[in-house]
Amino acid sequence: MTVETVQVPVYRPFAAQVSRLQRLSPSFLRVTFTGLDFDEFASNGLDQRIKVMLPLPGRGIDDCPSDPDWYGAWRALPADRRMPLRTYTVRGVRPDRREVDVDVVLHGATGPASAWAESAVVGDEVVLIGPNARFPGPTGGFEWHPPVDASCLLLAGDETAVPAICAIVESLPAGRRARVLLEVPEAGDALNIAAPDGVQVTWLPRSTGAGASAPRGSLLTAAVVEAAAELADVLAPSPGAALEDVDVDSGILWEVPAEATAPARSSGVYAWLAGEAGVVKGLRRHLVQELGIDRRSVAFMGYWREGRESD
Ligand SMILES: Cc1cc2nc3c(=O)[nH]c(=O)nc-3n(C[C@H](O)[C@H](O)[C@H](O)COP(=O)(O)OP(=O)(O)OC[C@H]3O[C@@H](n4cnc5c(N)ncnc54)[C@H](O)[C@@H]3O)c2cc1C
Repeated sequence: MTVETVQVPVYRPFAAQVSRLQRLSPSFLRVTFTGLDFDEFASNGLDQRIKVMLPLPGRGIDDCPSDPDWYGAWRALPADRRMPLRTYTVRGVRPDRREVDVDVVLHGATGPASAWAESAVVGDEVVLIGPNARFPGPTGGFEWHPPVDASCLLLAGDETAVPAICAIVESLPAGRRARVLLEVPEAGDALNIAAPDGVQVTWLPRSTGAGASAPRGSLLTAAVVEAAAELADVLAPSPGAALEDVDVDSGILWEVPAEATAPARSSGVYAWLAGEAGVVKGLRRHLVQELGIDRRSVAFMGYWREGRESD
């Protein structure tokens, strides 16, 4: 007798339709997607990442691979049949209503995802590559792993990290000490976050009105440096640590402590930083090399790179 094993992929394609569009602020559009099998979309919350496969002109979503090895099948397609693939965060999942929310930053028609969002209408079709609730194990795909005894949390990011940080903040128990620093394009992008007691949220709008704007990353960098100085008592800094360079123009800055390697007893602070890769690289240099923070307590994530397409 032969036993056939059916391969259940950990992430899989979900055909999706736009069911609602909500402009949250000048730069954020909440897109609610629905799909027949969204009750199988795993709900991990936090900074859960997914891929959005965008329709091709004239072909829609016809070229989405149905193979369990969807990525291999996608890569094997000729370039003109390969739907653009971009990474986003799940801002909300409601399997019972077969709904998934994604908050998209509108940065102009410079990339396929932002361009798609700028003109999206209800009924538009895309494919979400998301965690599969039928997979018999943890589906992963998120990096928020604070040690339970971290005495303080530091979350910092630009607008692309706002959806993840908002979801994380909303999950924190009351009384957890946390500093949250969010750099956004303009003052109107300061969203309402249901932050529990103990969480201090600071929005850092780059635009100061009358067309003036602070350079990207400058406000976030200054705020993180200041917060790190204030937290020096719990950070236990020891400057001068060696640091390998990461070329953010040809590679990806993704340095995250796995849950299992987080220090058994935290040094005090657990930090999570995401945004434009060059900015995150500068923060990594400051925190690791200049302050000597324990790298097992900090997640550094380049979510995108200025001047470079994500793929
Ligand atoms: C784990 C993870 C989670 C993410 N979650 C979100 C999320 O929830 N919401 C979200 O909006 N983004 C999120 N991002 C970032 C998003 O993937 C990138 O912004 C992506 O480049 C957008 O694709 P695009 O097709 O619009 O632009 P691309 O084709 O990738 O880039 C085209 C041009 O636009 C520039 N560009 C890209 N993004 C921006 C931006 N935000 N502002 C200004 N210029 C930009 C690029 O540098 C390039 O010059 C996430 C990224 C990662 C890795």
